Amino acid sequence: MEWTREAEEAVKSVPFFVRKKVKHRIEKEAVQAGKSRITLSDVRATRKRFLSGEASEITGFQADICFGPSGCPNRAHPGEGLLERLEALLKEADLLNFLKTRVKGPLKYHHEFRVSLAECPNACSQPQIKDVGIIGACRPAVTRQPCTLCMACVSACKEAAVRIDEATKRPVLDFSRCLVCGKCVAVCPSGTLVAGKRGFRVQVGGKLGRHPRLAVSLPGIYSEDQVLEIVADCIALYKAKNTRGERFGELLDTDDLKRLAERHAP
Ligand code: SF4
Ligand code: SF4
Ligand code: SF4
Repeated sequence: MEWTREAEEAVKSVPFFVRKKVKHRIEKEAVQAGKSRITLSDVRATRKRFLSGEASEITGFQADICFGPSGCPNRAHPGEGLLERLEALLKEADLLNFLKTRVKGPLKYHHEFRVSLAECPNACSQPQIKDVGIIGACRPAVTRQPCTLCMACVSACKEAAVRIDEATKRPVLDFSRCLVCGKCVAVCPSGTLVAGKRGFRVQVGGKLGRHPRLAVSLPGIYSEDQVLEIVADCIALYKAKNTRGERFGELLDTDDLKRLAERHAP
């Protein structure tokens, strides 16, 4: 779908936490109207309808994913399947009715529980500022396969976390710097570097607003099933501590974070 420059600019003024939903709605309505181009008036009309109907649009949660599944070459681990399972879990948690028991007055988008999935550490869907942020991970491992000394892994790593040891002529990984993006694995032609573990990193308690904070990372690289267990634990904790629709990050204290990290230790 083509967007005019004015339409692109106009949609940027939509509050960021509903921008994706509004963009999706604009494109859907344009398709239904048989249009192939979005103009400024399309944006204005849909935005007005969307925001005026806010109360009926609230679902109690937001779950999104970066543009990785559209073919991004940076994907460290695919998350589409997990997103579907997360949505099912969030629906089952009935967060909408829960929030109605906690929030005085009409529910707003900012009350919704937010989960965001990014398929690599570039984190385009901003998992660091969501209640639960999930990031695709590929942790490299060194095999016994001979290294051709092509240096592709060294060039690919933006973190300077891989080097070739001069004495052994083998790659050496520095996991204190490695972001588990898997780029070195993707470019290694010899199989010397392979994916040791693939899965997802999980961060909890991120938020913006008057007192912003970045989400705190849990210690492992988790499978889909493990991520779902963590999210279920987070929802349970959120419900147990929430009294007036606060964001998860406001409710989490140091002991909660410690317990979550211990319970989900690798
Ligand atoms: S987070 Fe990574 S995989 Fe997802 S769109 Fe951004 S660069 Fe691509
Ligand atoms: S996984 Fe990414 S950050 Fe880690 S060593 Fe490889 S390229 Fe560098
Ligand atoms: S990309 Fe693979 S073959 Fe090339 S230097 Fe790195 S480990 Fe060796």
